[in-house]
Amino acid sequence: MSSSSPSAPRTEARDELRRRFVEAARRAQIVTIVNRAQTEEELGELVSTELCDTFVAEIAFVLACRGGGRLGVVGAYGLRPTEVAQLPAHDLLDVSIASPQRLEGTDLLGVGARALVCASFAAGPARGIVGVARLHESGFDEAETALLEAVTVSVAHALERLRLADERDRLYREAEERAQAARVIGSIADGVLLIDGAGIVQLWNPAAEAITGLAQDVLLGRPVEEAIPGWSAIADALVVARGPDAARARATTVPLEMDGRELWLSIRGVGIAEGTVYAFQDLTEERRLEELKTDFIATVSHELRTPLAAVHGAAKTLQREDVVVGADVVGQLLTLIAEQSARLSAMVDDILLASRVDSPELKIATEQVDVAEVALDVIAAGRAHAHERLTIELVASPSPPVAADRDKLRQVLTNLVANAIKYSPAGGRIEVELEARDRHLAVVVRDEGLGIAAGDQRLIFEKFYRADANMTHGVSGTGLGLYISRELVRRMGGSISVDSQLGEGSIFVVTLPLTNTRIAAT
Ligand code: ADP
Repeated sequence: MSSSSPSAPRTEARDELRRRFVEAARRAQIVTIVNRAQTEEELGELVSTELCDTFVAEIAFVLACRGGGRLGVVGAYGLRPTEVAQLPAHDLLDVSIASPQRLEGTDLLGVGARALVCASFAAGPARGIVGVARLHESGFDEAETALLEAVTVSVAHALERLRLADERDRLYREAEERAQAARVIGSIADGVLLIDGAGIVQLWNPAAEAITGLAQDVLLGRPVEEAIPGWSAIADALVVARGPDAARARATTVPLEMDGRELWLSIRGVGIAEGTVYAFQDLTEERRLEELKTDFIATVSHELRTPLAAVHGAAKTLQREDVVVGADVVGQLLTLIAEQSARLSAMVDDILLASRVDSPELKIATEQVDVAEVALDVIAAGRAHAHERLTIELVASPSPPVAADRDKLRQVLTNLVANAIKYSPAGGRIEVELEARDRHLAVVVRDEGLGIAAGDQRLIFEKFYRADANMTHGVSGTGLGLYISRELVRRMGGSISVDSQLGEGSIFVVTLPLTNTRIAAT
């Protein structure tokens, strides 16, 4: 027995050591588990399960609330769903009660628990409580309470870590969504303008820049009325849809005056929390075509009426029985009828051709064409119609043949020479010059007539376009000749351009591929 007394304290010390060791190991294990959790739900479940195991208890739970919000269940073990739902309502789990607390009773938490230990935490904006309860009669000791406190600290850290990760993900998602929205707005063809409640421009996309020519950095942050000239004149006419009707917002087509230019915009406005979004399309071109078409119908009706009236008048005269018409007058009237009906039929041909000249149905032949020969024919026909103050000459050294459609080329040259005649009312010299350049033959038609204003030169090749009647001294026409010429030349693999000075005359240049080039290229 004598040997037993010194060994008793040693055994106790060893037991204490072992107990501490086990406790430290458990604490480390719980911390590892806590850190493994990827979501709050997972954290709640892992911690509650592990706590029951470690504390040899039947019930464990983690409750938390954010920034003054209501207490919610992060995870629970050993309780029925209805009991879990009741947990936050228990007064003894008030997070503001001094922590830790140990309780013993007969029906703690309304689930028949005999012992309860809980510790509360506050981490960032989150507060919460971690608790463990036993149904059997065995209270929690100091060491267990200390262990729970340590676990609670790690749970608080983990919750904070998850909250920050959530926040980071949310910010990342928001940034992604914003970047995506910016990419969409940046790539759509419609102009987009956002004006805030104070009338300041907050968004102006690249399409809006392209349509109006107004740069984003000049507009952003400025009052719209000041930033977009002409805005105040159209603003009242625009319809702004709100709420559920926004998707069916009605577009208003309005002219926007921009530094002397008139832009026709089709604008839809939608009211949103940030202000008003306007989406717009440029209809200037469509509008211009519409106007040209309307003008064209008026011009053509007029153009048709003049020769028709002449033919009609001549026929009527020939029909008259009360007037004896001499043979020479009959001859003149018949010539007039023949000429005017030929003019009418040429006009109708032009109208029909213009409607299908850009369609593949119009066949274009590729043959070897001696351009000088065609030009001579055209010049001869032109001379027959030109007044005597005009001279028309071919200036050409022998030139190589081109690959083209002979009839279509004749038509193009006829148009150019007829225009040179028409638009030289005061006479002068018209030259058709052929010039071999590299792999092309250039056909240059030069006149000393009215010339074409710089602003019109780009437009005269477009369908229906006619320069202002004041500039052309009232010379008649349909505005189709150069459009047809451009399309035919393009279909023959060539190009057409103009160089002119108002009042000085015009130079039209048609280039056509030389035969060997075209064949080599195809
Ligand atoms: P049209 O002569 O029937 O009006 P075109 O398509 O042939 O139609 O020509 C378009 C416009 O280009 C003319 O209305 C005229 O204003 C201008 N134009 C064409 N050729 C000449 C020219 N040689 N000199 C001056 N203006 C010309």
